[in-house]
Amino acid sequence: MNLRGRIVEVGDEREVETQYGTRSLAEVSIRPDGVDDDADAADGDAYVRVTLWGKWTHTADLAEPGMDLLVTDAEESEYRGEKTYSTSKESYVVLEPDFLVDVTDVRSWVQCPRMYYLNKLSGIPLNYPVVKGTVVHEVFGDLLRGRDLDDSIDERVAEAGLQLGLLGYDAAEVRDEVRRNAAAIEGWLAQGTLTEEDAWRSEYTLISPTFGIKGRADALRRGMPVELKTGKNLRRDPRFQDKIQAAAYALVLAERGVPADTGTLLYTKNTTLERNEESGDLSPAKEFSIGKGLLEFVVRKRNEIAAMEFDFSVPTGFEADAKCEYCFEKDTCMVVSGRLNQESKAGQIGSPLPEDERDYFDRLYRAIEEERRETHEEYRKLWEQSAEERAADDRAILGLEPAGRREIEGGRWELRATKTDDAVSKLREGDICLASDGDPVGGHAELCRIRELGDEVVVTADEPVSVRRLDVYPSEISVSRMLTAVHDALLKGDERRKDVLFGRREPAFTDRSSRTYIDNNDSQDDAVRLAVDADDAALVHGPPGTGKTYTIARIVRALVADGNRVLLSAFTNRAVDNALEALRDQGFDSIVRVGTENGVREDMQELRLETAGEPNDCAAELNGAPVVAATTASCGSRVVREQSFDVALVDEASQLTEPGTLAAINRADRFVLVGDHEQLPPVVRAENDLQRSLFERLVEEYPDASVMLDRQYRMSQRIQAFSSAEFYDGALRPATGEVAAQRLSDLGIDESVLPDDLHDPVAFVDSDSPRVGNTNPGEADRIAELVETYVAAGVDPDDIGVIAPFRAQVAEISRRTDVTVDTVDRFQGSSKEVILVSFVVSGRIDGPIFEDHRRINVALTRAKKSLVLVGDADALASDPFYARMLEWARR
Ligand code: SF4
Repeated sequence: MNLRGRIVEVGDEREVETQYGTRSLAEVSIRPDGVDDDADAADGDAYVRVTLWGKWTHTADLAEPGMDLLVTDAEESEYRGEKTYSTSKESYVVLEPDFLVDVTDVRSWVQCPRMYYLNKLSGIPLNYPVVKGTVVHEVFGDLLRGRDLDDSIDERVAEAGLQLGLLGYDAAEVRDEVRRNAAAIEGWLAQGTLTEEDAWRSEYTLISPTFGIKGRADALRRGMPVELKTGKNLRRDPRFQDKIQAAAYALVLAERGVPADTGTLLYTKNTTLERNEESGDLSPAKEFSIGKGLLEFVVRKRNEIAAMEFDFSVPTGFEADAKCEYCFEKDTCMVVSGRLNQESKAGQIGSPLPEDERDYFDRLYRAIEEERRETHEEYRKLWEQSAEERAADDRAILGLEPAGRREIEGGRWELRATKTDDAVSKLREGDICLASDGDPVGGHAELCRIRELGDEVVVTADEPVSVRRLDVYPSEISVSRMLTAVHDALLKGDERRKDVLFGRREPAFTDRSSRTYIDNNDSQDDAVRLAVDADDAALVHGPPGTGKTYTIARIVRALVADGNRVLLSAFTNRAVDNALEALRDQGFDSIVRVGTENGVREDMQELRLETAGEPNDCAAELNGAPVVAATTASCGSRVVREQSFDVALVDEASQLTEPGTLAAINRADRFVLVGDHEQLPPVVRAENDLQRSLFERLVEEYPDASVMLDRQYRMSQRIQAFSSAEFYDGALRPATGEVAAQRLSDLGIDESVLPDDLHDPVAFVDSDSPRVGNTNPGEADRIAELVETYVAAGVDPDDIGVIAPFRAQVAEISRRTDVTVDTVDRFQGSSKEVILVSFVVSGRIDGPIFEDHRRINVALTRAKKSLVLVGDADALASDPFYARMLEWARR
């Protein structure tokens, strides 16, 4: 039986005499899953004792109260009326099984735990071995899929064109080197050991809920893991850490009922070596047998990582037998230890950072790791929630019917399926998700990108899969990039910049601009001047509709005119493309847009950086661009991390975490942040320091370094009044008399045909209808009627938008009308002539979504001419803020 529960107490390791001789054991008490947290210890079933024998005492040594413990194949026995458990020969002991450790992390941990930590901090930089390794892996996958070798090499090297160009490599020399590596793969494939029945799979996404491991095996042959290494190995056996990697995949396969007892490592560089220059075993393929002892070792190593992550501790290197003198990370290791004042087996160099910077590092490190843990919670839901629960939670789309597949460029696949209902989910076009045959964990699943998400679903994936279900698959990339950004800011950051970030010096300004940039709006003009004059940082506070995007474009032009190279960034692709549109409208298009084909808007595709092609050409296009535009997530990519700029301008900065903002501003000498901390805050799962943006912190610390755009061009006076008073101290005003006085009649609508209660530009309609979960069907009916009323009066349906707080209510309303219905988050940054807001609540107003009033500020400031609030008046009146809103709406 499998035994699982929360650890309550951990006993010391001790030795006992048994019929097999002296053996060590440690006892752990756990509260089994399903037992109430408040259950009394006196209650016999509240806790159970489990004895961990032999080497599993090592895991007991790492265990702490509060951790989750799983013992597989535990033996049950009864002693003096008490049920006790112990490990059996078949058992594995897993700490924190819900924390999915990546197989490659287990590998680097085995080399040295500190190496695992350093990799986490600094990410993988752009270097030739990494790029070449990726190309060889892709060629490997292509060969397994039966592609022609030369075609594959040509295409894969071309795909890496930009990265190779930035590294100064020539395509022909790389093709040659890859071809020599590929000889190992070809030779091995031609060994004749394969038959038609051999099941080949390349890049197999594997998740093990039991062992808490995830990863992508390079290939599986007859169910056995095959790993490709682009280095050389002249010994007969695979390297130990490589064996560990293959064994970790074997463990995951075992959970799927495919016991793998052999692993293969393919060292492709071996075929590039000359026998007369090297001695040893030049054969590239090295097999090894995978026994239970090795699998247990992998689990124990994996447990060490889970235990370290549980209490956020930092490895020193002493935990392992690693030899620092042979370690290629030694310099980095010593510098990081020295700067952060950490203990390290290799020792320290350099003096420690000031204490406040180290505190900041520790605080953010912890916050980011908490966020990572929340991401892992999302993984857990993949197998803990039933399919129906996931669908109800908007985490999965079920019931898809496969409707065809075709091979597309790069040996990839386009997969089609039809939706059998109108269910909604968090998934959006362009997202990466997990497509599966219906079972995302135990069945066949592949990571894919969503191309279309209508009645027909279209996704692209490396491997064909019968698409019956799509699941949200959280990515750790953004968490990892946050950590790298904090590392870069503190350990590689300029001292002047850090003085400003740490409150040691006010941002400085030099009077460079006496000219007028924008002659019809003083605050916009001030904002451009502030940005141009900034020696360190400038902050532009842009409430709704204040021409933020126009001002950004003007700032960029002014900076470029002064000879600066500018990184133009934002949280979302939409904001980046909007800024580019404004720049082009102002006659400027010397821009390179970094982004994926899916992410970049259609009309900006021609600006998109070509990452595939002749290396020199690709690199020259990027290096020569005076303006490079990318989301902040892309700023943490290997390619953009290698670029440097004079100024980084970041839009939507109030929606970014501090590390998210650092990812962009690390790349430049100076920065300009644009945002509005009275609208949506950063989107994070954990509740910690990441919830506050750098923009908000700096606006409060350095009011003199900020300008608020105070004229808005969107809303009528009546609509903007509440937002202005509640969020902007009454400073927000309509830019012109026309803006202030705008009405539906300006669109040619005869307002007299509207019912009396809709004559005012702001109206409240009491839905007087009960909330059902996160929906309010009665309110949805009322909203649909109101939409019809506006359409009947002549308003174009495209000019009407409906905002609801929950996706379930969005779906409820969408079933009743064809106009745009979405959540506040999806509406930020856009506007409509007529906006209807559904509040859903009845009885009392409660729930976190209503507590953050900034969300309401966004909802109420999307409308230009008519705003209709639909809700339960009694519920809204139960909260002072909403009561004031009600009073304004009913005025
Ligand atoms: S230098 Fe030593 S402690 Fe540091 S990562 Fe290398 S082996 Fe580990």
